[in-house]
Amino acid sequence: MKNKEVNQNRMEVIVSLAKRRGFVFPGSEIYGGLANSWDFGPLGVLMKQNIKQRWWKRFVEQRPDMVGIETALMMNPKVWQASGHLENFNDPLVECKKCHSRFRLDQLPDGKKACLACGGPITEPKQFNLMFKTFFGPSEDQASTVYFRPETAQGMFVNFKNIIDTTRRRLPFGMAQVGKAFRNEITPGNFIFRTREFEQMEIEYFIKPDAWESSFEHWLVEMRLWLKDLGVAEERIYEHEIPEGERAHYSRRTVDIEYEYPFGRSELYGLAYRTDFDLKNHMEKSGQDLRYSDSETGEKFLPHVIEPTFGVERSFLVALLEAYREESAPTADGESDTRVVLKFPKWLAPIKVAVLPLSKKANLSEKAQEIFRMILSDYSCEYDETQSIGKRYRRQDEIGTPYCVTVDFDTLEDQQITVRDRDTMKQERIAITELKNYLQERLNS
Ligand code: ATP
Repeated sequence: MKNKEVNQNRMEVIVSLAKRRGFVFPGSEIYGGLANSWDFGPLGVLMKQNIKQRWWKRFVEQRPDMVGIETALMMNPKVWQASGHLENFNDPLVECKKCHSRFRLDQLPDGKKACLACGGPITEPKQFNLMFKTFFGPSEDQASTVYFRPETAQGMFVNFKNIIDTTRRRLPFGMAQVGKAFRNEITPGNFIFRTREFEQMEIEYFIKPDAWESSFEHWLVEMRLWLKDLGVAEERIYEHEIPEGERAHYSRRTVDIEYEYPFGRSELYGLAYRTDFDLKNHMEKSGQDLRYSDSETGEKFLPHVIEPTFGVERSFLVALLEAYREESAPTADGESDTRVVLKFPKWLAPIKVAVLPLSKKANLSEKAQEIFRMILSDYSCEYDETQSIGKRYRRQDEIGTPYCVTVDFDTLEDQQITVRDRDTMKQERIAITELKNYLQERLNS
C-alpha cells in the first residue's frame, strides 16, 4: 500500500474504533448527522475529562503563579470590536459559479483559478467572518446581535482588572480557562481535527514587557513537557516559527506546534506573544484603566502577554493516534493473532481497571462484584462477565484499560486474584487485600 493509503486507513481505523467502542459518535446521527459535528460517548467523555483535569492540575493547581477563570460564551459585542475579531477574523473565500462549492483561497494550488470539485470557474475572493452570530433576548435585530466566542482568551482579558483587584497578583502571573469556542469554519473535517464547535485550554500569561523572550521560551518548554505527558512522540512534533506577515493580527511572535497527522502536518497547539494588544484595545474601547501598578517602582503600565493555547479535541485525536497499536499476541490454543491495543499513558485511560470473573457462576460473580465495588470509588472501572476471558482481555486492550483483574475458582479458596498488565500481558497473582496498594502504586502518578 502507498503511504497515503496507509495513512487514510489509519484515520478510518481510529474513527471506526472510536464509534464502535463509544469514544466518539457522529453528531445527530439518527437524523443523518450534522456535517462534521461529533458527540463524545461514555469512554470519550472520560478521556476528555482526564485531559482537561490533568491540564488544569499541571498548569493551574500546581503553579502558584496561575489562577483559573470561567467566563461567558456570549459577551458584549464590543469585546470583538476591540479584539479585532469583527474586522480581522476572516478567511478569504471563493465560490464555484457552477456547483457553488466554497473553498478557502489558500486551498487552491498556486495560480489555479478553478473549482476543486468540478473544475468550474470561481468568483473573486470574499471575506467571510468566522464568528457565529445569534440574538441575545427576544428581538431579532442588529442591536441584539451577539457572537459565540471564537476563543476563550478575550474572557480573560476583560477580567484582568477583576483578577488584579480580587487576588492581588503581582507580575508575572497567568490566567487559565478551559471551555468551548465556536468558529464557522469553511472547511471542517478530518474527524475531530477541525470542527465548528470545540474546546480550548488557554493561558494568558501577563509579564513585564522586557520579559517576553524568556517567558516565551519557558512556555515552549512547558508545552513540550505536556506533550510528553500526553504520550506524543517527539519525532512527530514540529515547532513552526510563523514568519512575519503570516502571523495573526495581534502577534509579534508565534510558534505553531504541529503534528504529523495521517492527513498531513498541521497545527496542534499555538504559542503567541500577543504584546499588550488586547489590554490596550480594551482599555481604549471600554474607557477603563486596565494598567497595572508596580508596587516597587510606582510605575503604571500595561502588561504584555504570552499565550499558550491547546485544543482539547486535537489533544484527544493525537493521543488516540499515538496510542493505537496492532500487535501480534498469542491465543489460548498456542496460535497467534493480532491484538489492537491503545497504549495510553495510564492517567489518560478512560477505564483504569476491569474486573472479570472467569465464569458467570453465582459465587464467582458475587466475589467479583465485591472487588469491583471495593475499587469503584477510587478508579473508573468496568465489570464484564460476558464472553470468553480471552475476548474480554482483547476488548479491554482495545479501549486501553491498563489492568484487568480476573476472579477464578481458586480465588474463593485462597483469596487471591490475577492482575493482567495491558502492555506486557503479564499476569500476576496477588492477594485481594493487596489490590488497592497494587493499583495505587501503578496508577496514581
Ligand atoms: P488552524 O490554523 O488549524 O485553523 P488556528 O491557528 O486558527 O488553527 P488558534 O486560533 O491558534 O487556531 O486556536 C488555538 C487552538 O485551538 C488550536 O491550536 C487548536 O488546537 C484549536 N482549534 C482551533 N480551531 C479549531 C477547530 N476548528 N476545531 C478544533 N480545534 C481547533
